[in-house]
Amino acid sequence: MLNPRSLTLPIAKPLLPDLAMISPYIRQIDESRGYSNRGPLVRCLEDRLSAHFGFESQAVMTAASGTMALIGAIMGAAGIARPDRPLCFCPAMTFVASAAAAQVCGYAPHFVDVAPESWCLDPVRLRRHPELSKVGLVLVVAPYGRLPQFSAWQSFMDETGIPVVIDGAACFDMIGDMAPSLPERIPIALSFHATKAFGCGEGGAILARDRVVLEACFRSLNHGFLGDRIALTLGVNGKMSEYHAAVALAELDGWAGKFDRLRGVARRYRAEHARCDFKAELFVHGDISSTYALLTFPTQDETLSAMHRLRSSGIEARYWYGQGVHRQPAFAARSTDQLDVTEDLIGRLLGLPFFVDMSDGEIGRVYACLTQEVPMQDPPIRDARNEAWALTETVAS
Ligand SMILES: *Cc1c(COP(=O)(O)O)cnc(C)c1O
Repeated sequence: MLNPRSLTLPIAKPLLPDLAMISPYIRQIDESRGYSNRGPLVRCLEDRLSAHFGFESQAVMTAASGTMALIGAIMGAAGIARPDRPLCFCPAMTFVASAAAAQVCGYAPHFVDVAPESWCLDPVRLRRHPELSKVGLVLVVAPYGRLPQFSAWQSFMDETGIPVVIDGAACFDMIGDMAPSLPERIPIALSFHATKAFGCGEGGAILARDRVVLEACFRSLNHGFLGDRIALTLGVNGKMSEYHAAVALAELDGWAGKFDRLRGVARRYRAEHARCDFKAELFVHGDISSTYALLTFPTQDETLSAMHRLRSSGIEARYWYGQGVHRQPAFAARSTDQLDVTEDLIGRLLGLPFFVDMSDGEIGRVYACLTQEVPMQDPPIRDARNEAWALTETVAS
């Protein structure tokens, strides 16, 4: 196994609000003695988030995690899978939680390819897919926070009648205040995991402009209850606690400053990249969420060798989505299309270290290593190498 101490520059270093920022909210919990079941802090957070995104009325519902938000959004918008439409179209170029959420709701994930430019599923192509009549859900993922085309997906849903849910786990900072242009009846699930740009430890939220959809999502994360204790629909407990809401409120208080700093790191990455006259392409905020820096080379071999070079200098680099969900053992038996674009992209998008207080020196160190101004560390960390191979060997092949 990789010895974490050998990696001196980690891929992520989450920074959430400190005690001083959280404590006023914790004091409110002490006073209200509300700890759960959508207490005052959760409701305050939902109102403030609705305003943050530019909604005119409440359109945000919190959840215990991004995965729970996804499950709530699926159950609310599509319900659990029906026998006549058991399939869920979803991409393989995503975090494993996307397909897992669909499967937990009874759907059989069927992996479909993404489009090379958008990295997202293609609604025009999927409309002609031979399996479409068996599909009960399309799970569109915003990979690395890259937003899908909302209006095209709303049209897809209107024309096919197939419910669509967007896994926008990494989209908090990409959505900004564009709420009015979000799709009318498609819910979007966000993650507030510590590694995301906006975090509260573990948490998430569903954005839904349609009141009926939002209530159905809420019911599904509240045991099927809505205002009473009668479970009309199947539900789970996916609610956010008051404690997590306290952290999220403090994070929202400091968000403008944090977002500025994140964008500053992205800008400095761009500048360093430009200075190095490097043949690889860099994606940072502007293209993707401000929690990632992605380097892409023309070939998978070059990408893999960059990863090894970084790792052997103690710099963590990661294929954030591994080799694709279809290669995860838990999903290996699932049906899949030819995934040419996915297979290509997934071995060429390499995550570089990115965090809010990353220094110029640290960014410089990444590029010095990539451009080989720094000699390879001797002896190279053999375990790290082995792990890198274990992580990536089928990508290279
Ligand atoms: C982070 C992430 C999730 C999972 O969110 P959690 O809060 O960790 O449950 C799901 N999908 C994508 C694309 C993600 O990036």
